[in-house]
Amino acid sequence: MPERRDPFPHLWFPFTYYEDVVDTPPVVIERGEGVWLYGADGKPYLDAVGSWWVSLLGHKHPEIDAAVAEQLGRLEHAMMAGFITPAAQELAERMGRVLPDELTRVFYSDNGSTAVEVAMKIALQYWYLEGEARTEFVAFGGAYHGDTLGAMAVGGIPAYHGIFHETFERARFTDPPSCYRCPVGREPETCGAECMDSLEAILREDGDRVAAVVFEPMVQGAAGMRTYPAKVLDRVFELCEAHGVLTIADEVAMGWGRTGRMFATEHAGRVPDLMAVAKGLTGGYLPLAATAVKEPIFDAFRGTPGSDRIFRHGHTFTGNPLAAAAANATLDILEREDIPRSLADEQAAFTRGIQSFRDIEAVGDARHIGMVGALELVADRETKAPFDADLRVTWRIFQRGLEHGVILRPLGDVLYFIPAYVISEDEMDEMFARARRAITEVLDEVGAG
Ligand SMILES: *Cc1c(COP(=O)(O)O)cnc(C)c1O
Repeated sequence: MPERRDPFPHLWFPFTYYEDVVDTPPVVIERGEGVWLYGADGKPYLDAVGSWWVSLLGHKHPEIDAAVAEQLGRLEHAMMAGFITPAAQELAERMGRVLPDELTRVFYSDNGSTAVEVAMKIALQYWYLEGEARTEFVAFGGAYHGDTLGAMAVGGIPAYHGIFHETFERARFTDPPSCYRCPVGREPETCGAECMDSLEAILREDGDRVAAVVFEPMVQGAAGMRTYPAKVLDRVFELCEAHGVLTIADEVAMGWGRTGRMFATEHAGRVPDLMAVAKGLTGGYLPLAATAVKEPIFDAFRGTPGSDRIFRHGHTFTGNPLAAAAANATLDILEREDIPRSLADEQAAFTRGIQSFRDIEAVGDARHIGMVGALELVADRETKAPFDADLRVTWRIFQRGLEHGVILRPLGDVLYFIPAYVISEDEMDEMFARARRAITEVLDEVGAG
């Protein structure tokens, strides 16, 4: 056997087994355009997962390129304490137009995890300032809100968070609102949002100690693009209102039109007290996040020097103008092109493409909302039993997809599609055709074809 060698002896890859790096080394990507990424050898890969869900308008978008270059010609960064750049100021105003009207203030940070943690800290301090002892959080089973400690405290995916929860678990968790594997045994036709009976029970018992309920609206992303209906969200808002609990919507993944509405909470016609956004905010160009709040929450922080009414939080790169310039250009395009409304035809084609996989026996569920689609693979459609993990079916499909020039990095047993909105009809056909080839080939090989 030839000696196995670590191709990247100084790198540590996220969410990646070392042995996989050695056996199937990560692809070196040199350039991109639209939905395509190009390897160092020039090979094109169709980016079906939007580079971890951030590439909203495609790679190397000429307008965003120009906006960042223009900003780069003037200033790369200035600290935001005591100073503000025109780009960061403009972005706050622009977000004021795009966000639901009641969300009037934005606090910048650098990524989705910090945007959620900022929301949690604001909620905690808000209740402290109001003189109420509300210090606990409730989150959904199966939730993902980021990988930092505070964000993990409201994370409910054992594979990601289990080891760490031993030491600091703080949140209480509801049943996971997952329709394909409904925790309360309902079918879509009989669903009355009973999964949130669990939230009702928690709030009835301890509601006066809960600062906020944190949730991913409509889709639990990292859990496997698990979708749930707006009535579940509606029930969450109702219960929170009844118990005086704040709502924190984590729109990090599903904001900016992904689900067919500008923000996923709009499906329930509701506005959360706090909202975290990131990922697509800069079109996937640079790390930037924001936590938006309703004015009454900000009011509690209108402080005089010496008081506790100051939010003692800030990251060094808060309000970075390069990232803000990318975000301004991105939001410009969303506004001008009337996204997501103008995506209706594209979404219909996307939906048909996702549903076309149902003819494959091992596709237990094909689910979609807006421009998010997912296929959950199962060994047995009837029992929904998963494949033997040792077979690594979705991982092999990911590797086979790379051979066929499509990027399908999975989440557990789930393959998903979150392409940039600029994907053309031909490219969409190509994406699904290449994915189908990778899926059927691997399923044949494991005897599940
Ligand atoms: C990705 C994600 C986060 C974390 O964002 P990072 O930028 O990776 O820190 C938080 N919440 C949701 C719903 C996400 O999908």
